[in-house]
Amino acid sequence: MNHIEKREIMIDHYNNPRNKGLITNDEYKIVNMNNESCIDEVNVQLKIIDDIIEDVRFDGEACAICISSASIMTDTLKGKNINEVLSILDNYNKMIEGKDYDIKVLETAIIYDDINKQPNRKKCALLPWWGAKKIIKELNNK
Ligand code: ZN
Repeated sequence: MNHIEKREIMIDHYNNPRNKGLITNDEYKIVNMNNESCIDEVNVQLKIIDDIIEDVRFDGEACAICISSASIMTDTLKGKNINEVLSILDNYNKMIEGKDYDIKVLETAIIYDDINKQPNRKKCALLPWWGAKKIIKELNNK
């Protein structure tokens, strides 16, 4: 995928974010994430039933990188089991940090594979994914 294709996907997800808007329902766990180095503030919601991510939602005010990566995250994580999601989150983190990662598990999220060249934007791309990880961690600690 070249730079222009990556940018087009990002703009599409920014202009037409998938799974945006929160759901008021006890089955959804929610977390609020802030990035002080940008304008980003997002809420991430996960509905997990029997080890499966049944639904992923998000909402918030954020920059194009953060909104688009949240939208792509919802598409990527939905329908996966917890172990698959933890692997995706781990590999996504590695990719953003410029480390070796498993490209096969990341699907559309690979469009951010060169963001490590813009260190001040890394947190924009990571914030929603950290939110999903935080919810899963909190559930596992119960
Ligand atoms: Zn941002």
